[in-house]
Amino acid sequence: MKTVTILGATGSIGTQALSVASAFPDLFRVHGLSANRQVHLLAEQARRFKPAKVVIADPALYQELKALCSDLPVEVAAGASALCELAADIKHDIVLNALVGFAGLQPTLMALAAGKDVALANKESLVAGGHLVMPLARAQQKAILPVDSEHSAIFQCLQGQQAHTIEDLVITASGGPFFGRTQADLQNVTPQAALKHPNWSMGAKITIDSATMMNKGLEVIEAHWLFAMDYDKIKVVVHRESIVHSMVTFHDGAVLAQLGIPDMYIPIQYALTYPNRLHGNAPRLAWETVQSLHFAPPDTENFPSLRLAYVAGKMGGTLPAVMNAANEEAVRLFLAGEVSFLGISRIIDTVMNKHKVIIAPDFDALVDADQEARQLAQECAKKKG
Ligand code: NDP
Repeated sequence: MKTVTILGATGSIGTQALSVASAFPDLFRVHGLSANRQVHLLAEQARRFKPAKVVIADPALYQELKALCSDLPVEVAAGASALCELAADIKHDIVLNALVGFAGLQPTLMALAAGKDVALANKESLVAGGHLVMPLARAQQKAILPVDSEHSAIFQCLQGQQAHTIEDLVITASGGPFFGRTQADLQNVTPQAALKHPNWSMGAKITIDSATMMNKGLEVIEAHWLFAMDYDKIKVVVHRESIVHSMVTFHDGAVLAQLGIPDMYIPIQYALTYPNRLHGNAPRLAWETVQSLHFAPPDTENFPSLRLAYVAGKMGGTLPAVMNAANEEAVRLFLAGEVSFLGISRIIDTVMNKHKVIIAPDFDALVDADQEARQLAQECAKKKG
């Protein structure tokens, strides 16, 4: 029996993780759950999964959650510090971090510091703070188990392989809803159009990141930290069908890939049950319907965010955190109708250019850089409209 806490339980990954947990009632016991504002869904989950603790990140919703859970034997808490306390709880074996954004970094660090394994969906933890997360995981001899499908694919391809035999990593990208479009075509793209991903159903922020290709940029930085790989050895290839989830080239020229239908159940289940591969109910790939698989280079002219992420990753220090914060803010403003689709990458570029990089920042320096970048992104948005 594994005791699991799910941070961001009400989101796309969080709800799917609960489905995985409920498929294996003899294997998983849910210890803690958290949400940001979806208080009713969190209370419903508390009723169904009977965790010992629930945390609502927005403190204004504490009384409401408390009232909704008043007949349940569950401890209710609220706020960012309660979220960190939950991450560091001694009573769970593994924390699945399915939070979105920079808010996920501190809980990842807290879980590792408390000696817990982390199943990581929150890629922003590694983008902004990979230089803090990975050494802490090593020092604590704890695993970071990738949930992101591309990183899970690479992780699966690497089982039983020796690190020195890896030549490069090939991360596949669907290309998002606007693949093949030019900047002129992208001028008047609406949030509704950008939220229609061709292959995956995900939370709003990652769906917009997929449309701009920033998601692939974040994944390149995530792969750099997870697999200790130089940026020059991490390639991105567009693969519209999202059947090949990523690949590894080895030094004899062999390429291993992990394939399957686009479904997050498999990577979530693998992260939670690793090193075991258990029977699962994810739909199977019907090979007779797969007529062909296509691959193409990414278009960094019309989708510059991927190029910006390589720049930020190679520079390191505070720059990836700044890029991430500018992106989070620009995506929020785009969804609110306050900046254009093309404005997202322009804002990120401007904020990155204005930032004076701090090498080897500690957590507090990252928080400062994140705040400054958000402020600057808002000012840019006001100027650019
Ligand atoms: P969602 O937006 O669907 O869910 C995010 C979760 O985090 C929700 O439970 C939300 O609560 C909570 N949350 C949001 N902001 C805060 C905050 N400031 N403090 C505390 N809790 C917060 O996101 P996804 O599930 O799509 O993505 C989660 C992470 O997984 C992201 O890093 C994403 O890049 C990564 N990922 C997602 C994939 C997917 O298929 N969705 C695939 C691969 C990676 P509430 O519901 O109350 O708002």
